[in-house]
Amino acid sequence: MDKIVAFCKRRGFVYQSSEIYGGIRSSYDYGPLGVEMKRNIKEEWWRRLVHMREDVVGLDAAIIMHPRVWEASGHTATFNDMLVESRTSGRRYRADHLIEDATGADAEGMSAEEMTKIIAEDDRIKDPVDGGRDFAPVRPFNLMFETYTGPVKSPENVVYLRPETAQGIFVNFKNVTQTTRVKVPFGIAQQGKSFRNEITPGNFIFRTREFEQMEMEFFVEPGTDEEWHEYWLEQRWNWYTSLGINPENLRFYEHPREKLSHYAKRTVDIEYNFPFRGWSELEGIANRTDFDLKQHAQFSGENLEYFDQGTNKRYVPYVIEPAAGPDRIMLAFLVDAYREEEVNGESRTVLKLHPRIAPTKAAVFPLSKKEPVSTIARQLYDELKGDYRLFYDDSGSIGRRYRRQDEAGTPFCVTVDFETAEDKQVTIRDRDTLEQERVPITAVRERLQG
Ligand code: ATP
Repeated sequence: MDKIVAFCKRRGFVYQSSEIYGGIRSSYDYGPLGVEMKRNIKEEWWRRLVHMREDVVGLDAAIIMHPRVWEASGHTATFNDMLVESRTSGRRYRADHLIEDATGADAEGMSAEEMTKIIAEDDRIKDPVDGGRDFAPVRPFNLMFETYTGPVKSPENVVYLRPETAQGIFVNFKNVTQTTRVKVPFGIAQQGKSFRNEITPGNFIFRTREFEQMEMEFFVEPGTDEEWHEYWLEQRWNWYTSLGINPENLRFYEHPREKLSHYAKRTVDIEYNFPFRGWSELEGIANRTDFDLKQHAQFSGENLEYFDQGTNKRYVPYVIEPAAGPDRIMLAFLVDAYREEEVNGESRTVLKLHPRIAPTKAAVFPLSKKEPVSTIARQLYDELKGDYRLFYDDSGSIGRRYRRQDEAGTPFCVTVDFETAEDKQVTIRDRDTLEQERVPITAVRERLQG
């Protein structure tokens, strides 16, 4: 992990937020390469889930919503983690994690009372900082960030930063069905920031308090939900593997029935085997039933039923929700692609990222700063820069330039040399096979596709 964090900083993928002030825990900034890579992940999700489908539309809802939304969804009452405070160090921990780390037992879903009892009785459970065993009773802690609208900080002006993007979709269900021509089964997709006041954020960008989500609510006729759930499990699995994630590092995790969230009939996670923390969720794919629409119908007084003109039936649709986080997914892509290799007796660090995910699609290298090499290289760069993220580099030896691009994950390096003026050809070097191919300048655009 330390290696990845240092690498991300050195190459401008991810920086600690507010670093010149000593940083702020759990906040990260995406640097020049990181922002490109995260955008590519979001873009690939959007392309595959929205643009390539006729049955999914997009949405971009506000972060600050009516506070009643969170009452209806259950977040105000139940979006809690169990918090325990050590009386010796004053540190606060997630009680389930404290128990699990010390005993290996699965504490998720236990009540505060049960956890308090276990912590008091099991002397393997100690404060990780000072080894103390004096803990205050476990209590639920609501993860929503509160703030106020307007100048008066009074209870009636309390609003929340959304802890998930999904509710913005549910509350727009009526708008979308009335203003577009969607018909069940159909989905509404959204990407954007979510906020959770996590008690123990950590593992770099794996768990932060401010993060992004990519969620899609796919509305289906009740009774067809189980089939659609299977369908989306397969679709989402294929998304990862088609973008180059090693399938051996991926698995489905079926949530046990007794631990399902209050809204779910079935939830299956796609997990990645991170070297520093083992199998961990990248995405949850839940059958949320008609819970959310029914709750919003009840709390708002609006009728959120759907009238199916084909069958003349009126019903509240069930919902299948793939909910993913691009920050976590980016960490998985980075870890999966990172290699230190020996090549021809020399060592290199390389990110074997899929070309659609790599921050830079290709680098253009003039072999020399002299004419006509330089002008031809510039022309090629200018011609392609509107379609691909490119990097122009004319300094240092070619070997050094290649190594820098290997580290950045750039799949192709295109070199213009003195012969180019004669034969109108350039050399394309492949990051992974290291093969160098001579191709006509006019064929470069096509070679970069894919
Ligand atoms: P976890 O159990 O790890 O806290 P969760 O089950 O609460 O996650 P969901 O509510 O299902 O997560 O959110 C969907 C996705 O959003 C997660 O799979 C993850 O990719 C992302 N996500 C959730 N919380 C965070 C966070 N604090 N930091 C970064 N990404 C997050």
